[in-house]
Amino acid sequence: MLGLMMDRPLLISQLIEHAAEYHGDNEIVSRSVEGPIHRYTYADAARRSRQLANALKALDVVPGDRVGTLAWNGYRHFEIYFAVSGSGAVCHTLNPRLFPEQIAYIVNHADDRFIFADLNVLAILEGLKDNLAGVQGVIVMTDRAHMPGESSLPNLLCYEDLIAAQGDVFDWPDLDENTAASLCYTSGTTGNPKGVLYSHRSTILHAYAINGANAMGFTADDAILPVVPMFHANAWGIPYAAPMVGAKLVFPGFKMDGASLYELFDSEDVTIAAGVPTVWLELLRYCEANGERLEKLQRTLIGGSAPPRAMVERFDKEHGVRVLQGWGMTEMSPLGTITSMRRGEKDLPAEQQYDLIAKQGRPIFGVDLKIVDDGGRELSKDGVAFGNLLVRGPWIAKSYFRGEGPSAFTSDGWFHTGDVCTLNPHGYMTITDRSKDVIKSGGEWISSIDLENVAMGHPAVEEAAVIGVAHPEWNERPLLVVVRKRDSTVTREELLKFFDGKVVKWWIPDDVVFIDSLPHTATGKLLKTKVREDFRGHRLPSAAR
Ligand code: ADP
Repeated sequence: MLGLMMDRPLLISQLIEHAAEYHGDNEIVSRSVEGPIHRYTYADAARRSRQLANALKALDVVPGDRVGTLAWNGYRHFEIYFAVSGSGAVCHTLNPRLFPEQIAYIVNHADDRFIFADLNVLAILEGLKDNLAGVQGVIVMTDRAHMPGESSLPNLLCYEDLIAAQGDVFDWPDLDENTAASLCYTSGTTGNPKGVLYSHRSTILHAYAINGANAMGFTADDAILPVVPMFHANAWGIPYAAPMVGAKLVFPGFKMDGASLYELFDSEDVTIAAGVPTVWLELLRYCEANGERLEKLQRTLIGGSAPPRAMVERFDKEHGVRVLQGWGMTEMSPLGTITSMRRGEKDLPAEQQYDLIAKQGRPIFGVDLKIVDDGGRELSKDGVAFGNLLVRGPWIAKSYFRGEGPSAFTSDGWFHTGDVCTLNPHGYMTITDRSKDVIKSGGEWISSIDLENVAMGHPAVEEAAVIGVAHPEWNERPLLVVVRKRDSTVTREELLKFFDGKVVKWWIPDDVVFIDSLPHTATGKLLKTKVREDFRGHRLPSAAR
């Protein structure tokens, strides 16, 4: 006998029990859908998760069953994460901002047996009731007093009634760590959404990884506010990483506007927050307009799409907040790379640090990256060559749920991210585009993200998108679509001049159009497909020659 380590499985139920035992009095604060701020502790959360696990058993939910959630970030959603996965079933988070037909498709594709729903999204399910034949019941995440008087849904259950009927002792099963734990569908800008099935093992390994000091580095002293929704890649894994270290959690509910967020940041002493750039744009605007400063906030994790460099700079200069940029995908649990400075880089002048933070970060241990050309040949990590990014690692999907979209996976174990990037010798990644957003001018790639970043650095620009439009000579040329800041009168010529010296000449957009607002996806990203559709027929002045 060699005498190896114990073969103890890594399980999600262990997280909540750990937090309850060693950080039992640390708080979880939620803006409830019913209105008031709700506060309780990890000990309470663990107790109620066990009650809920008993309730699921009483409903005859068995290991492997899919249980849906249609809900915002809040304490009941948190309990569901642990009760469902901990008891061996699969917690399937649904995005209420999707089109109802997409929600129906996803529920049926996943074969959800029950759906937990927040009060203010119940109407979505009511509208779909004839399309959800497999769903045996909808559990409304509220108490008896707030239950809707009438509903067209046949089997409506009350969350608080369900758990009140149960004891708070539950023996979490000793599952195999490769048991499925949660399921999340990617929003899929083309084709139907595809499911990504996370395991207990991948979830815990990812939580360890993001808790590293070179990643998000949460500690028991932190108060974390995940604006990123629990239905989007499990709120980037924060609901698992936080109990692992006993950090306080602050859930914003469905109110993600600047004023509501600021109020929570201020009253709950939030030290670190996480969300997509659009959310921060809103918050920074609110603070500026109201003369507020984010006093307690130390760091903010921005990902999902690239935060413009100007945002990194504003956070630092106006609020003393350090931006961490993360890059990842639903298929990657989601984190792949994150701002993690090398020795000495934190001593660089601020401007140079902003440049580094504006990159997508460096790989966390466990994630392998490589770039290849269209023929599949590996390219050099020299910071110049850009190619298609492939990844592999223990928290990266090896196929989609039910085997869909197999072409995204290579036969030798890599996943095609669909992103185009450069990697420099130190591992700094710079995403130049999603492969479908790349602009090809005369056979050469132009990075729409770089151009958007420059435009966003102009003080008169609220938001910018760059797309390729048809050009008789060059095949495609960049068009800059801009939302101006209120009261700004900046002109096309002024904006184009702003690019001088910031990008090579032939990258400078051929034209500028001003619009009132840009379209976003359900997860707050710029919806480039729609922008392209809207401006497909745009005639560039350069094309008229
Ligand atoms: P979706 O379902 O919208 O694809 P994901 O969160 O899985 O949602 O999206 C992953 C994609 O988002 C990545 O492939 C990449 O294109 C983009 N992305 C994520 N983080 C960043 C970032 N920091 N900078 C630029 N793009 C990003």
